[in-house]
Amino acid sequence: MPEDGLLDHALVRLDEAATHISIDPDVIEKLKYARETTKVRLMIRMDDGSRKSFLAWRCRYDDTRGPTKGGIRFHPNSTADEVETLAFWMTFKCAVMNLPYGGGKGAVQVDPRKLSKAELERLSRAYIQAFARIIGPDRDIPAPDVYTNSMIMGWMADEYAQIVGEAVPAVITGKPIALGGSLGRGDATARGGYYLVRHLAEDLGLHQIMRVAIQGFGNAGQHIARLLAADGHKIVAVSDSEGAVRSDAGLHVDMLIDAKAAGRSVAGTIGQGGHEFLSADDLVAVDCDLLVPAALENMIDEKNAGSVKAKLVLELANGPVTPEADDILARSGAVILPDILANAGGVTVSYFEWVQNRQGFYWTVDEIHGRLRTIMEREGRAIWNVAKEKKVSVRTAAYVHALGRLAEAIEAHGTQSFFTS
Ligand code: GLU
Repeated sequence: MPEDGLLDHALVRLDEAATHISIDPDVIEKLKYARETTKVRLMIRMDDGSRKSFLAWRCRYDDTRGPTKGGIRFHPNSTADEVETLAFWMTFKCAVMNLPYGGGKGAVQVDPRKLSKAELERLSRAYIQAFARIIGPDRDIPAPDVYTNSMIMGWMADEYAQIVGEAVPAVITGKPIALGGSLGRGDATARGGYYLVRHLAEDLGLHQIMRVAIQGFGNAGQHIARLLAADGHKIVAVSDSEGAVRSDAGLHVDMLIDAKAAGRSVAGTIGQGGHEFLSADDLVAVDCDLLVPAALENMIDEKNAGSVKAKLVLELANGPVTPEADDILARSGAVILPDILANAGGVTVSYFEWVQNRQGFYWTVDEIHGRLRTIMEREGRAIWNVAKEKKVSVRTAAYVHALGRLAEAIEAHGTQSFFTS
């Protein structure tokens, strides 16, 4: 659950990384605060004729390495603190992957499941009307995040085109293919994590067949289940916001995906195909080799970290493990592949989409997969080596790796720069 102090918590990782490299204190000072966060109240007409308003934000955290990049989340618990924290993580994620971007994020405080499709479209368009002057293909480029998808990105791209009077597909990524979206963006977040695990399998001492538990069954959770199951791994437990299921023999992934497509919880499959009841709170404690948090922030904290049995955690969600839980897991010998590396496949294919939009030349899905895999393996290996060399966690290594790139760019701008002021 988002709570006050989320950014303060996130900055603990920055301070920790700074102790492992020699860094100008000005760099840390610059990276401690969001450059700009704009808050608006969006007013839309509901289907019954009434008007309703929603709080919304867009944060451009840091643009030292390029235009800010990051998704837009629709969630009832979103706050300014959460948006800034997610934008801070995007800053480091883009630097980890060496993408020519800074970090940004947006949100609307809304439960989109309670809106009709027409209301959702009006809200998405209202967001772009409010932030049209802040975003732009060379300024700030949104994308999907929790509870937003390609359909919403399509409406947003259309609204932006109407405002500026021409099609500008590179203003937003994660669009439908028909509007200039990229092949391979749909499963990119999970696929990046999957390539990373496969690449480091030997270093991590992984079994041929892994038992996997997945917390959260949205875009990332469903795709990682499908990719791992296709390789013969067993998905032994899955949860979503309404419940959970388990099966020691392995869950039927297709059945779970069908349930979600029909608007039902994974818990709706209990009793079919050997799927058994599991309390969602117990998911992290399930006996497995790989735990994949793919839901929201702070799901593994000091209260439940001690119950985690997995020796490998793949963070497909942003910020799912608190700093206190990091320490508990480290003491138990678990390795965490951290969010800013593990889930960076999403923004990497967003970058490919932006490149294709700007050059007007589109790549095949095999080209997308090949390029994603190359970058995941290159940056994953570099970070793994930093972790071994400095005897630090993979998370700290990822921050050190990114911080070096950020520091270099901050320095290169010069002391009089608008960008580094
Ligand atoms: N929302 C995704 C993330 O947190 C993707 C961002 C993007 O594609 O720009 O990484």
